[in-house]
Amino acid sequence: MPISTPNKNKLYGWVLLSSVLCIAALFYGGVLKNNARREEPQKSLEAARSAEVAEMTKKVVGNLPLSAEENKKVSDLVEQILSLKNNPSLGKDERDKLLGPLNIELDELLNQYTLAKMPQTESNLLAIKIAKGAMKDYKTAHSGKITSDEYAISMIGISSYKIVDGVRIEKIADRNKDLAVEFEKEINKAWENIKKILPLSALKKITYFEPFVEPKREKEEGTETPVAGQTGGFINFVGGQAESILGINLRLRDPDLSVLSYVLCHEYGHVISLNSSQRDSKIGEDQTLEYQTPYEQMQFKENSYMKKFYDRFYKYVYDDQCADKEGYLFYLRHQSEFVSVYAASHYDDDFAESFAFFVVGEEAGFLTGEDRGNGREKIKFFEQFQELVELRDQIRALLQKNDIHPVRSTV
Ligand SMILES: [Zn+2]
Repeated sequence: MPISTPNKNKLYGWVLLSSVLCIAALFYGGVLKNNARREEPQKSLEAARSAEVAEMTKKVVGNLPLSAEENKKVSDLVEQILSLKNNPSLGKDERDKLLGPLNIELDELLNQYTLAKMPQTESNLLAIKIAKGAMKDYKTAHSGKITSDEYAISMIGISSYKIVDGVRIEKIADRNKDLAVEFEKEINKAWENIKKILPLSALKKITYFEPFVEPKREKEEGTETPVAGQTGGFINFVGGQAESILGINLRLRDPDLSVLSYVLCHEYGHVISLNSSQRDSKIGEDQTLEYQTPYEQMQFKENSYMKKFYDRFYKYVYDDQCADKEGYLFYLRHQSEFVSVYAASHYDDDFAESFAFFVVGEEAGFLTGEDRGNGREKIKFFEQFQELVELRDQIRALLQKNDIHPVRSTV
């Protein structure tokens, strides 16, 4: 469930977070003052630095069972990374240039340990492959040659509708005239179904509805259930990022709305976290939001849901997640921190997945084991926001009223 139809293949840059910069500036201010007086604070500075190295090492290692020697190798790299990040005399470009190779080296070392030490399963591999949008051929994705365009053609837009007052839809344009005729009834039914799941207050925050289909694939013929790899829906932002588009796949086989209900909760997680009230961004105002935009470019506001989520869960692992283009090995060593495989693909899908689990996870019995570690923390994260607790209760009441029972799906 990508947040948008991707326009171009974008590689992640190595980002320096402004929050890290701020901390460094305060830190060094303190050092200069203290050095003028006596030696003691120097020791506490060193202690603080080694504590940070230990903390980041623990985070990036995740579930990996490393020997003391292996841990030391990771820790040495982490120390180099942190000393670059905390060095105020380096300009951003210079720092990023130096950090890039170090981050890759760290990721490669962690991947090497992960391959040697963590059990790997086909189902996890498939799930993360889907999550990264590599829907074609695994080998193509592996060679890094897959392009977003190949991904984009898997969705065919049918028509575009304006959502009026959260209650009805008005057609603005047809994207595909033949499909618009063929699916007219289905589109109206899909809209009525959406209203059975999301409350009015939520639907009012979505500007457009764009039903789509994916081309039929061989293994899809004759099946009763959704096919792994299908896209259930998407959220995109346009119009100065203030207007949102909800896309829903009309070819999902989902008679009891168990999949749609999950998909909508996930997509609504993108709506609450990426809309213009949450971000300062002027970048790309005239463009649509790109799929999995790097964190720094999003310019989340200080009080935004996402900044709080990121500061709490991503401070030390973001670069590692971006470096691992396939995401599978990153997921393996961090699986206890995510509510699903898909959540490990990117911070914004982690947010959306965790939000969906917060809303309907209990009903669907997603978290029956005790092994979800920070995954549970991520679900609890949402409880601090009264408005989201109210929204959750409204959605749950609607689902109960309409006898809908969400299931977690890989679509
Ligand atoms: Zn998503």
